[in-house]
Order: sequence, then C-alpha cells, then structure tokens
Amino acid sequence: APSREPPTIRRLEESVVNRIAAGEVVQRPSSAVKELVENSIDAGATSISVIVKDGGLKLIQVSDNGHGIRYEDLPILCERHTTSKLTSFEDLQTIKSMGFRGEALASMTYVGHVTVTTITDGQLHGYRVSYRDGVMEHEPKPCAAVKGTQIMVENLFYNMVARRKTLQNASDDYPKIVDLLSRFAIYHTNTSFTCRKHGANKADVNTIAASSRFNAIKMVYGVSTARDLMEIVASDNNPSRAIFDMDGFISSANYLAKKTTMILFINDRQVECTPLKRAIEVAYSATLPKASKPFIFMSIRLPTEHVDVNVHPTKREVRILNQESIVNTIQDAIESKLMSSNSTRTFHMQT
Ligand code: ADP
Ligand code: MG
Repeated sequence: APSREPPTIRRLEESVVNRIAAGEVVQRPSSAVKELVENSIDAGATSISVIVKDGGLKLIQVSDNGHGIRYEDLPILCERHTTSKLTSFEDLQTIKSMGFRGEALASMTYVGHVTVTTITDGQLHGYRVSYRDGVMEHEPKPCAAVKGTQIMVENLFYNMVARRKTLQNASDDYPKIVDLLSRFAIYHTNTSFTCRKHGANKADVNTIAASSRFNAIKMVYGVSTARDLMEIVASDNNPSRAIFDMDGFISSANYLAKKTTMILFINDRQVECTPLKRAIEVAYSATLPKASKPFIFMSIRLPTEHVDVNVHPTKREVRILNQESIVNTIQDAIESKLMSSNSTRTFHMQT
C-alpha cells in the first residue's frame, strides 16, 4: 500500500529558483531579442542592430547608440530585480518604459552567457564584462567602444536540455526575430534597425529613419503591401464606455494573404490581443466577399492607468480597461471603412 506519510517540503536552492524563473522570461531566442531591443529603445537609441547565429542559440548580439550603462552599476546590472526604471509599485500605473521588472538581463545570465560592452557620454573608453548566474565573472575591463551598449548572449539554454532540444527540433527562430524587428521598425520611425545572420553581408531588416509611418511600412513590407493599405482612425472619449485613440493602416479588398499580419502597439508596447485580432478577422470575412486574411498595423493609446502591463513574465500581453467596448468600436470602424472602400472604386494610397 502507498505510504500515508506526506513527503517533506524543502526549500529549493536559489540557483534552481533562478533558472526556473529565467525560463519563463526568456522562452526562446526571439524573446531574448525582444527584451534586448526594448532595453535599447528605453535607453533612447536611434540605431539598433542585431546579429544572430544559429537561430539565436549560438549568439544574439544587440548593439545600440543609447545612453549606456554607468561603470558603478555594472556589478548589479545582471542581478535579479535590479532596474533603473521602477522604484515603487505605484509607478507601474504611469510607467512609460518597456522594461520595469529588472529580470531580463538576469534571466539571460541564468540560461546563457552574457557579455556587456558599454560606454557613457563623455568617457574616453568603455567597459566590457561577462556575467554568469547574475554576477560578474571578473572586474569590468576598459576597452575601446563606440557610443552606447552592446549585449551579447551566447549559448542560450546551454543548461536547459529539454528547451534546447525542442528549439533545435523546431524551425529556427531567425524568421521570428526578423518579424519582430520589422514590427519595431515600422513603429519607431525615428530609429534605424538592422538585423542579419552572423557572417552574412546582407541584412534581412535594414531601415533608416522614415518620414512617415506609411513610408516605414513601405520600406519594411514592400510597395506591394503598402499599395493595398488604407489609413484608419477610431476613438472614444466617453468615460462611461472607454477612452482611447487608435490610428493605423489596414489592408483593402485588393490585398491577398493566407495569414493575418497583426501589428499591435498599445501605449508604445508591442503586444498581442487575441480578442481584437479575432474581431478584426470577423469584420473582414463579414465585409469582403473573398475573405483574404488582413494586414493590420494599429497603434492604440489609452490613459496609462487603464492598462495593466504586469500580467505576463514576457510582457507579451497587457490587460486593458473596457476592452470589450474598445474592441467593438474598432471592429465597427473597420467594417465601415471596408464597406465604403468596397462600394467606391479601389482606393490606392498616395505616397
Ligand atoms: P528592466 O529593463 O526591466 O529594467 P533589464 O534586466 O532588461 O530590466 O535591464 C536592467 C537595467 O539595465 C535597465 O533598467 C537599464 O538601466 C540597464 N540596461 C539594460 N540594457 C541597456 C541598454 N541597452 N542601454 C542602457 N542601459 C541598459
Ligand atoms: Mg528590460
């Protein structure tokens, strides 16, 4: 008979706790890239370049021209819960930066090898230092550096056998990384982005600052996509329903694709919102006879206190107040846009 003795409860070792938590924050190479690029954006970078080897498993390198990291901060840079962006829980209500958990860099040091090279304004040289399990492996070494920060993550998931195996069997994360950077590039029109495979001389994302969102989309997704886009706006200022502003571009009846491309930013954060995506797909299939899957770029702005950014370790989702009402308003706006463009002649954007 099975023993009725309850098993003993033990405290997990800190290193185990840290590695488990890290696996949630950094789920795959593309999530590491997202964290690093968001750090560059938070650092005010206007130029961000990414190099990837072996789908990110061998190497991810993100270089920016942002404000850099102070020498004095390097010892705790990769400790868990160290951040320059948040001080009190209440700050979360008004936070503008992408980051706030102080966990991304730490996580990467628990599941990979991290090397940071950084220089701050007015310094003659920069510093380089490597990290493991949250701590510096040696004193920061002075080195030549150009403005900003470069972070290198090598051998991601070297110590997580199952994760590494599933990723190696799955298709390479590189297309996901290219997709991610393409999305950032059309949102941050004042920042230039490049992304290439290690050793390749051709970049797969290569943008310069664009004069408009439309031109940015054209640069990244091509003339043939841009040609079939219509500008759309929607808003609601009624506090009893919702308060929001939306602007974006949506594909017209001429656009043909098998898969929905949904690029969504809520208060500057690149996020996913499945109910909104579904509602938009419904609007398309209800309005357009030959229901092609749409291309959607959408930026939604809400009062910061209406957005809960702290719902997911990867910050992939946010929770918003009055979501249903907002989704309905946007769905209606899209339906009437599609209807009017369908009944008039095919509309082509002027560039
Ligand atoms: P968070 O972004 O949530 O603060 P991270 O672990 O991503 O946490 O980063 C920790 C801190 O390291 C940041 O708060 C920031 O001060 C600094 N940092 C990280 N990346 C960069 C960068 N590219 N440029 C300047 N500072 C950076
Ligand atoms: Mg961060």
